[in-house]
Amino acid sequence: MCHAVTHDILAMNKAALALFGVVEDELRGKTIMDFIDDADRAALEKRLHGPVQDVETWGPWAFHTDARDFFAVCERRRIDLQGTPAFVVHVRDVTGQVNDERRLRESEQRYAMALRGANDGIWDWDLVTDELYLSARFCELLGYKEGELGHTSEVWFGKVHPDDVERLRTEIDLHLSKVTPRLKVEYRIRHKKGHYVWMLTRGVAVFEGEHAVRMAGSQTDISDRKVDEERIAQGTFYDQLTGLANRLLFLDRLSFLTQRAAGNKEYAFTVVLLDIDRFEMVNESYGHAAGDTLLAEVGTRLSQFVGSLDTLARIGGDEFGVSLDGVSDVAVAIHRARSFLETLDEPFDLGGDLVTLSASIGIAVNDGRYGHSDDLLRDAATAMHRAKKRGCSSQEVFDEEMHEEAVALLRTEAELRRGIAEEEFELFYQPVIKLSDGSIAGSEALVRWNHPERGLVMPDAFIPIAEESGLIVPLGEWIMYEACRQCSQWIEIGLDPGSVSVNLSALQFKSGIIHDLIGGALKRASLEGTRLHVELTESAVMADPEKAIEIFRETEKLGVRFVVDDFGTGFSSLSYLKRFRFGSLKIDRSFVRDLATDAENAALVAAVIALAHSFRSLCVGEGVETTDQLSYLRLLKCDLAQGYLFSHPVPAAEFEEMLRSGVKGWHRLLF
Ligand code: C2E
Ligand code: CA
Ligand code: CA
Repeated sequence: MCHAVTHDILAMNKAALALFGVVEDELRGKTIMDFIDDADRAALEKRLHGPVQDVETWGPWAFHTDARDFFAVCERRRIDLQGTPAFVVHVRDVTGQVNDERRLRESEQRYAMALRGANDGIWDWDLVTDELYLSARFCELLGYKEGELGHTSEVWFGKVHPDDVERLRTEIDLHLSKVTPRLKVEYRIRHKKGHYVWMLTRGVAVFEGEHAVRMAGSQTDISDRKVDEERIAQGTFYDQLTGLANRLLFLDRLSFLTQRAAGNKEYAFTVVLLDIDRFEMVNESYGHAAGDTLLAEVGTRLSQFVGSLDTLARIGGDEFGVSLDGVSDVAVAIHRARSFLETLDEPFDLGGDLVTLSASIGIAVNDGRYGHSDDLLRDAATAMHRAKKRGCSSQEVFDEEMHEEAVALLRTEAELRRGIAEEEFELFYQPVIKLSDGSIAGSEALVRWNHPERGLVMPDAFIPIAEESGLIVPLGEWIMYEACRQCSQWIEIGLDPGSVSVNLSALQFKSGIIHDLIGGALKRASLEGTRLHVELTESAVMADPEKAIEIFRETEKLGVRFVVDDFGTGFSSLSYLKRFRFGSLKIDRSFVRDLATDAENAALVAAVIALAHSFRSLCVGEGVETTDQLSYLRLLKCDLAQGYLFSHPVPAAEFEEMLRSGVKGWHRLLF
């Protein structure tokens, strides 16, 4: 049986759409033939209609689109699409490399032409007397006039680059002992002005019997070609910014070392990944050019701490990698990692501003148990992320436990994705009580996950993962809308829910889409902005206060008020607080907990309450569990409170009951 293969493009990812300069709708009925340049059409056709392999690599071929022309290498993999064979084609833009190579070919041709012309220097060497004749052109290539150089071989060898002398001598010896039929060697020689130029020397010896008596040949300046060659090697394997090895070379190196460790029980090495903390802040505050300078400086500093057998690479953005040759001992690895961290402690000078950096480091030792370098790198990355979580300037060594945790994390992430799609989330509401009269001022919406197997999952167990995976965006959107919708519905049935408080995560705040998120939810739910409070933790706000001010101001126009959550745990600067114009400050649970037992703490809470009032904002005490705590808060003139003493967070239906009944019990607690 024979399937008719259509070659229609079913879908392209964003990167491919951008590369081909098309939008998704234009893809229907298109095949890759629509994009190939005429020059490579025949080659493509041949491959499309030839025998099919599981994985094939094509190209580089020229492609031609309305937007631009480019060269690309395609890797085609056969996959099974619900029973139908299909292909995934991975297209890699290699235009830069192809152009570089073309330039190299051109300069090679130029060099061949030069050879035919009279551009070469000529030399003639009497091996018996060591007398050396150098043509005018030979001298000129080195910046000298004819005769300015002496007449022994020493004037030649004396100028050869120290690293190349031995090679040149060896090649000459090989030819003189008839191992090679001709002398042909590339080497560097010092120009009169002091710099080195690349030369190609060819020569042939004249033998009398077994003995060479004379040798003569040509000398060609190949500096241009060498520069091009180096540029290609540099571009492919080295990072332009720092001059260090790039990711490709680093991976290559790791896979070489991994093979070595697998084959040799005695050999081990260690991978260290280093990621600079909050580097985006440097870019944002000082601009990308300054960020680049800083990265280059980091590279320079780190390179002082790596040995000649180690490889230091910049493997992406602000991430560096080091392979420590022969290091099998974790203690040694940690010691080395510390020296990396210490070198960053020294302030960097950014146009007069002194900036200090910290970094998070992940360490993985390969004592031969890794079959593949990818696994090693993955484990080092896991350790690095763990260090990042622990806070600035820390390091972690990968261990089995971490592996299991990483797997569990990935599993939860997949679960979370499914949970969002299946709408397994629910909002609970915790009443916020007005301390002056015991009435319900509003509620805080707190998310819960009704997991089909694990039961009710609390936010601390999944919000961090949602943040890390970016799933907080769709989840946060649902939460915002659901809270607004519920509040709007209560109003509609004649209840007064007061205000509803919705928590925003730091990542949502950072993503900068808050205004649209809030505006969209209010509109969809037909809820007045004044009903909505948005909670952001003090630390999230202070991480970028200027942005907070901007967002607060914008959102204020919708009538929405901001609550600074977990207040007292971060480091607020008063000058910023004044400009925030928040609606209320929420004193962190930890302060409320120790209120009745710790006098110093009580003074602090009093100060926070006074601070809120000085900004004409309200103060909320959260986590109130005892009547003692409650009495203190009232004594200190706190405006609002929430906590288990009044009610745990409860499902919407239960909160609705509270709204109906007004819950007289609280009145008794208070008066
Ligand atoms: P949070 O914003 O500080 O929320 C208050 C937490 O304190 C809630 O925990 C609440 O149940 C708990 N709590 C309330 N009264 C008492 C009390 O008297 N004693 C004690 N010990 N705890 C009390 P929950 O619901 O587990 O939420 C934990 C955290 O998860 C929240 O801290 C918030 O940071 C986050 N979170 C919850 N819901 C959401 C959400 O919808 N979006 C986002 N981004 N984060 C959420
Ligand atoms: Ca909160
Ligand atoms: Ca809180």
